[in-house]
Amino acid sequence: MARSYKARATVLRKMRLGEKDLIVSLIAEDGSLLRAVAKGARKPGGSLAARLELFSTVDALLAEGRNLDVVAEARLAASRRDFDLEQAACAAAVAEMACLVAQEGLAHPRLFDMTNAALDRIADAQPADALAIACAYLLKALASEGVRPELSRCMACGEPIDATEGASRVFVSFESGGGYCERCQRPSDCMPVDAATVGWVNALLRLRFHDIPPLAVPLRASSAILQFARQWTRFHLGRDLKSLNFLLSGGLFE
Ligand SMILES: [Zn+2]
Repeated sequence: MARSYKARATVLRKMRLGEKDLIVSLIAEDGSLLRAVAKGARKPGGSLAARLELFSTVDALLAEGRNLDVVAEARLAASRRDFDLEQAACAAAVAEMACLVAQEGLAHPRLFDMTNAALDRIADAQPADALAIACAYLLKALASEGVRPELSRCMACGEPIDATEGASRVFVSFESGGGYCERCQRPSDCMPVDAATVGWVNALLRLRFHDIPPLAVPLRASSAILQFARQWTRFHLGRDLKSLNFLLSGGLFE
């Protein structure tokens, strides 16, 4: 008989498998990625489908399978079903990043709590604040992977980088993982980034999710941070965050 095990996990992605089944990607409590088949989950009125809601946390019973494990039972532990369109788009970016950094069979401390905290705060937030929380999650997830951008001091001379409102640009090198002052930057591998964007990146990396809404991060700043996080992810993790296409397509938050 197949061995079974229990797991508390949050649903990050659902993919169709044939007529009736789903492949579900979840992040487990230890931060590892679980991929499992939910048999019959696409049948109308199926109770398993209702419990495996996107972004919700479930207590699941899984049976080990030859290729993928199988979800035998699932009970909702925390439902996150009441997202509006903007919140859902922000939650999708969080879920995509979580899928990217979590790995099967590999514990990733804090990632489960961090992901749930971001989703909970997005559920409570106004659209512009939800977007800023998604930005913060992307940056924090990258930092948890060891690719936190060093943007407070020049990577070469160590001088503090001026990212205050009056400053103009910071020269960021994706390759060396941080910023340079005007004097030390080399045009061959540095990209100028608006100083205000760098200031927001530093602030979001430092703050807890529930401290973000009072900042009232402007939409323009959030868009710039999304672009920055996308490029940083592409360079350091070699993957594109596809959910950002929708977030950056314009119109959604205006
Ligand atoms: Zn310098």
